Amino acid sequence: MPSESESEHDKKPPQCKGRAYYFPNVTDEEWNDWHWQFRNRVTSLEELARFLPIPAAEWDLRKQVLKDFRMGITPYYLSLIDANDPDDPILRQAVPIADEYHYRAIGDEDPLGEENFSPVPGITHRYPDRCLMVISNSCAVYCRYCTRKRIMYEDAVPDFEIDRMVDYIARTPVIRDVVVSGGDPLTYATQKLERVLSKLRAIPHVEIIRIGSRVPVSLPQRMNDPELLEMLEKYHPLWINVHFNHPNECTPEAAKACDKLLRAGIPLNNQSVLLKGVNDDLVTMKALVHGLLKMRVRPYYLYQCDPVRGSEHMRTTIAKGIEIMEGLRGHTSGLAQPMYVIDAPGGGGKIPVGPQYMLYYSPKEGRAILRNYKGKVYEYLEPRPLESYPVPVEEPALVGRSNGNGNGHANGNGCGNGAANGNGATFGGCGGISAPRFDVPVTPARSNGNGRSNGNGRSNGNGNGNGNGRAESEPSAVVGKSRWARRRSTRVVNKDGNGKE
Ligand code: SF4
Repeated sequence: MPSESESEHDKKPPQCKGRAYYFPNVTDEEWNDWHWQFRNRVTSLEELARFLPIPAAEWDLRKQVLKDFRMGITPYYLSLIDANDPDDPILRQAVPIADEYHYRAIGDEDPLGEENFSPVPGITHRYPDRCLMVISNSCAVYCRYCTRKRIMYEDAVPDFEIDRMVDYIARTPVIRDVVVSGGDPLTYATQKLERVLSKLRAIPHVEIIRIGSRVPVSLPQRMNDPELLEMLEKYHPLWINVHFNHPNECTPEAAKACDKLLRAGIPLNNQSVLLKGVNDDLVTMKALVHGLLKMRVRPYYLYQCDPVRGSEHMRTTIAKGIEIMEGLRGHTSGLAQPMYVIDAPGGGGKIPVGPQYMLYYSPKEGRAILRNYKGKVYEYLEPRPLESYPVPVEEPALVGRSNGNGNGHANGNGCGNGAANGNGATFGGCGGISAPRFDVPVTPARSNGNGRSNGNGRSNGNGNGNGNGRAESEPSAVVGKSRWARRRSTRVVNKDGNGKE
């Protein structure tokens, strides 16, 4: 039993959240109707104050923020917020706070340079075979970190602009993949969205259509509309990229919405953004990817938050992202691993980053030194040209072959082992972030402490009969080798160093 003072200290205020807490008088019919949810979004500070405590000292600051960037929170998404927790992860994503005001000048309006790659308004054509089509300026919830904060006003994109985008895609046969995004296309009326999809589907070179949407997260009631699902089904192959950031978003309602989309034959991939105070810790991220898999949603990308103006308070470091990826890889299923990427500022595209598992690689040697998720180091040998193997591969022939032309092997082993040890020493910790070394010269002094093995290895490779490098240069850090690799080592570097056993 905790002492009285401990229990007082540890006592957390009870959670105040959920539909019954915020909207006790709303009927099921209203709650499950996406139009009702959309119509009743919380868009002003005054409305928000009816549900959540707003510190008096922050009132004016938050008001100022809303002059710059709108707020919109569906009743459903609001119901996920714990009113007693000012740091609630759902609140941080949707509610303006004082920090958004304080750091509002930092960052770019268009951090990805989307407008520099825009042949016609609304299209970003950055990569060779695919393009982005922004058809909507409206979202169910306006995320405080949104990359496209600059376009989030609520005037609909006019049809003639959408037609111009479609026309560009039709005139550009290299485009085989179109990402339809916004804003959020699923906030459109079904007929309006169908108008866009049918035009795209009529273009012969458009192979796949992807929709980017946060609606399954923030307005899952949208998927209660059977017309929408029937319509989407007509335009396969159609994919949807959803956008869950926190396990608290993986609710039964969201799971049901995802299930309906999946049953309509639409694969779902998730794109999360790494956000300070929301999901920038391993426990949360692991719970999120597990929650996604339970809903049959594949974790696809984890984005480093873009340096967009007004979101500085939500950004965190790359080191944090790498630490999280390190904690996922190997510690949970491969299916649960998103690709961690940085969208390069100015329009460089997505660049994968992450922990380094290949510590050394030399195509010349055909050899790599790898570490696993526990930090143990392994050697991997690439295939040699087939004609360099004896046929059939038999022991005597192998020996003969080694003697005859085993120089390449010997070199590989002599250098390789030294390098491995060198790497073992360099990367011995392996828990942190290590720079890879590709084709780097070996460090003889590291290999066995006497600096000779590499030289010997090489000499053996030259067939000079000096080779005794194997035993000395065998890296202590390398704990795993393939059976073939072991045989290769023992064959080519022998006891008396003359290339024979
Ligand atoms: S739903 Fe997507 S487009 Fe809309 S505000 Fe959020 S991040 Fe931006």
